[in-house]
Amino acid sequence: MANGVWIVLQQREGQLPRISFEALAAGQKLAAELGSKAEAVLLGEGVGLAAAEVAKFDLAAVHVADDAGLRVYTPGAYIGALAPAIKAAAPAFVVFPHTYQTVDYMARLAETLGAGLLPEVTGFESSGGGLVWTRPVMGGKLQSKVRVKGEGTVLVSVQSGAFPADGAARGEAAVKPLAVDLSGIEPDREILGYEEVGGDTVDLSKAEIIVSVGRGVGGADKMASVEALAKALGAEIGASRPVIDNGWLPRDRQIGSSGQTVAPKLYIAAGISGAIQHLVGMKGSSVIVAINKDPGAPIFTVADYGIVGDLHEVLPALTEAVQAAKG
Ligand code: FAD
Repeated sequence: MANGVWIVLQQREGQLPRISFEALAAGQKLAAELGSKAEAVLLGEGVGLAAAEVAKFDLAAVHVADDAGLRVYTPGAYIGALAPAIKAAAPAFVVFPHTYQTVDYMARLAETLGAGLLPEVTGFESSGGGLVWTRPVMGGKLQSKVRVKGEGTVLVSVQSGAFPADGAARGEAAVKPLAVDLSGIEPDREILGYEEVGGDTVDLSKAEIIVSVGRGVGGADKMASVEALAKALGAEIGASRPVIDNGWLPRDRQIGSSGQTVAPKLYIAAGISGAIQHLVGMKGSSVIVAINKDPGAPIFTVADYGIVGDLHEVLPALTEAVQAAKG
């Protein structure tokens, strides 16, 4: 019978993105719910430093598959490494971060294993002797509640921001080699290299603080107070879709269902109404401050702090306060 929780952590060139630690936090929480301790899995070549970083968390073990065939990600090699290991250990759940990479291979891995698949979950709870999972559908307009039928391993990916990385419990874990045999695996893809889209494209998912503006800012020529606050806080600037569609900011600043998903420590939403397509991209932020002149704006329903007022008055006042606090 399937038992225990595995967490497959994504890395590239030995660097673990924040969402890997979010998957770790989710896996630990899930294991605690099931009365066990999670085990992490790392695939790559020469990923000893990343494994040592993961070993500082409260895990039963960190299994490292170190193989030249895993130096760069290809779905065939990842499935070739993971499928036999998962089959042999038969964990009840294997938790992944929900990323472009895991979207690329998880369904095929589930099919290879005959395992269940729960992509992009945002939470779970114990109910009626089992687990009930929450996952968004229809671009986040609805939240579906899902119960897995049958026995056997289930592959789960967790949405960015749903399980804060800060929640991952520290501890000490043994690093163990995970034997893989990729000799029979035909490379199904040749990775020629990685290119950052647009060269100077901003990856807002890495930002710790975001000052985000909506249509309420009123135009490209009215960004000075937004830029001043972002500078004072050392923040990135984000935006709702109309700001991008109007050409007030470049496309890589868009946050939401058709933009980036972010989970900073602090998200300041100024002149953003709080449409569902925007909320799905930022509601995982640790602290949300909303500034809007309409007290009934839906953004206030997800805000930890709400300021009703004109953003062109509120933002300069906040900038002044931040500068004063910094001395
Ligand atoms: P509005 O809804 O027009 O709100 C402006 C707000 O500013 C209002 O609440 C107003 O009270 C306030 N305001 C005005 N002036 C001031 C002032 N001086 N001071 C303070 N407050 C002021 N949207 C996204 O953001 N991201 C997405 O990825 C995205 N994807 C989409 C995908 C699809 C398929 C569709 C159909 C829509 C998508 N949208 C997306 C659009 C989304 O539905 C909303 O239209 C959009 O988020 C609204 O942006 P907004 O809040 O800036 O503008």
